[in-house]
Amino acid sequence: MSLVIRDLTYHYGNTVALRGLNLEVREGELLALLGPSGSGKTTLVSLVAGILAPSGGEIRLGDEVLSRPGYARAPEDRHIGFVFQDFALWPHMTVAETLEFPLRMKRVPREQRRARVDEVLRLVHLEGYGARYPHELSGGQRQRVAIARALAPRTRLILLDEPMSNLDAKLREQMRIELKEILRHERVTAIYVTHDRLEALALADRLAIINEGRLVQVAPPEAVYRTPHTVFAAQFIGPASVLPVTIRDETGGDRIAIELPDGTRATVPGLIRAGGSASGAWVIRPENLEVLDEESSGQSEAACTFPAVVRSSTYAGSHWQIDLAILDELQSLVCHHNRPLERGQTVRVAVDVGRTWVIGDAGGLSPRVRWKFRSLDCQDVPGVRGGSTLPTRATDMSPKRQG
Ligand code: ADP
Repeated sequence: MSLVIRDLTYHYGNTVALRGLNLEVREGELLALLGPSGSGKTTLVSLVAGILAPSGGEIRLGDEVLSRPGYARAPEDRHIGFVFQDFALWPHMTVAETLEFPLRMKRVPREQRRARVDEVLRLVHLEGYGARYPHELSGGQRQRVAIARALAPRTRLILLDEPMSNLDAKLREQMRIELKEILRHERVTAIYVTHDRLEALALADRLAIINEGRLVQVAPPEAVYRTPHTVFAAQFIGPASVLPVTIRDETGGDRIAIELPDGTRATVPGLIRAGGSASGAWVIRPENLEVLDEESSGQSEAACTFPAVVRSSTYAGSHWQIDLAILDELQSLVCHHNRPLERGQTVRVAVDVGRTWVIGDAGGLSPRVRWKFRSLDCQDVPGVRGGSTLPTRATDMSPKRQG
């Protein structure tokens, strides 16, 4: 069932937590809500859950209005499931009782309850664990119970608020894969709140990047990574060097001519403000760069190259991270290399221009290009100086209310 949020605002006293936020989560979609601490993620899911009432705006689930000014549906009537980072399992209930509880609240007949409990236990790979209490389970198993409890009543929408943050790194990776399969199987619409970009990239059908109570970009993970709409989104989703550039020309169609402070020019795919931008930011990922030292195999005469000075080499397991200074040491680039380089050494670094991205001044950005370009030979470009170049505890499904 799709969730539609329009002009949603929320104030905690004088603090504005959400500022006119618009978002649509499509039916069956897993949307990752990704942003730094304090950006408004928990506030947003609490509003959807009904734990908080909006200061303004509307939330709809399918055809139903969940809240609008002067009206808010009770949390327990929203049929939304929740999973939290601390799992929030009831210590005195077995796994089977925990999973059955939301079905009893919905007055599902006994036989159907039992069948559904068995089904969700199989779904989360916990067959045979029905009689265990939470303290008899590992962290990963508790998390599976929490997911199963949220799904058991055939939930229309599931909200997962940093659900993996109490699991160790290896388990988190495994649970990511499982969770994606489970949600696909149940065809449930889901919002997954996280500040972990790798988790968001791995899990999401689409990412919603949030910062300071506003959505910055909503797009599939690869689109946010390759064609970010803002410098914030570019740097939040992955490592990126960002160079200030002057926009020289919109070459029309697919590329933007840029100039670096030293006069180096290139034409690069990107986004530019409607009506033109005077300046912009050139986003270069580590994998868009290659150090052309004497032992490099991949010397490419076609690439746009800069002289650079090695600042540091840091071992990162699969590669060395090399920090470089360019443009009279005023700007930095980060790239990967197969071995450390000597500090202070001068190297040439080649940029795979066609896979980099330029963002014009903020505001009113419109797509200029997609990123399916051949890498660009900046030495071929006229005028280019190549070479110089919940819920607070969920819908309180507290057993005490069982009656
Ligand atoms: P996130 O989940 O992304 O960390 P939150 O939604 O918790 O962010 O918070 C958004 C903003 O609202 C932050 O500025 C935070 O300080 C503020 N905030 C959150 N909860 C409260 C509260 N109970 N009282 C006052 N301000 C709050």
